[in-house]
Amino acid sequence: MRKKIVAGNWKMNKSKTEAVALAQDLLSADFDKTVDLLIIPPFLYASELAEACADSRVQVGVQNCSEHTSGAYTGEVSVSMIRSVGVSHVLVGHSERREYFGEQNAVLAQKVDQVLAAGLTPIYCCGEQLSEREKNNHFSLVKSQLEEGLFHLSAEAIQQCVIAYEPVWAIGTGVTATADQAQEMHAFIRQLLTDQYGESVAQAIPVLYGGSCKPDNAQELFANSDVDGGLIGGASLVASDFVAIANSF
Ligand code: PEP
Repeated sequence: MRKKIVAGNWKMNKSKTEAVALAQDLLSADFDKTVDLLIIPPFLYASELAEACADSRVQVGVQNCSEHTSGAYTGEVSVSMIRSVGVSHVLVGHSERREYFGEQNAVLAQKVDQVLAAGLTPIYCCGEQLSEREKNNHFSLVKSQLEEGLFHLSAEAIQQCVIAYEPVWAIGTGVTATADQAQEMHAFIRQLLTDQYGESVAQAIPVLYGGSCKPDNAQELFANSDVDGGLIGGASLVASDFVAIANSF
């Protein structure tokens, strides 16, 4: 039985006061007991929020990490720093990192290695731009993102990872992939994992959907056999929406 996970990527939003208030709202909310809950605030708040959530079911992640271990990398944050403040998960290769910060699969593979070496969980993001889907190139694009960023891992290591499929055309646009489009790509990802690592490993890895997932479409998306939860952007900034999504299984 794979984990069900709902993760909220807060991106570059919220003041510290607002971030603490949102976390407090979530800590006092009633959640489906079978779902793993994760908030992914900006770096600056991760330490305080990890402390606030320490004895709760809400886990805390961060949105990025350095591919380097330590040293003269001004402005960067290493995985050992991240681990030291009680954070458990790291987003790797979100489409905004790929698009605005030029992160490519090779450097993302290094980040995945860093995260795993620190004993943390990488959430490796993949997904195509609209132009790739229009050219019917979306399957091969996602395949190369996985092969180049993740498939260097051993069977043991990849089972420590979570994958998030996020079609870029659905992120922050209000356009959601249909339940069928999501399932089709998730099944494709599961098949790639099976081809590379075998059935039992492939069946163990959670694959989340992200892209304009909201309370009114989460249930339909999560009902798919290969959709194991969601990576939620905009709707994770409103406690009641995030709770409703997490309770949509
Ligand atoms: C995201 O950025 O990971 C995301 C899925 O955003 P949104 O839910 O706002 O589309």
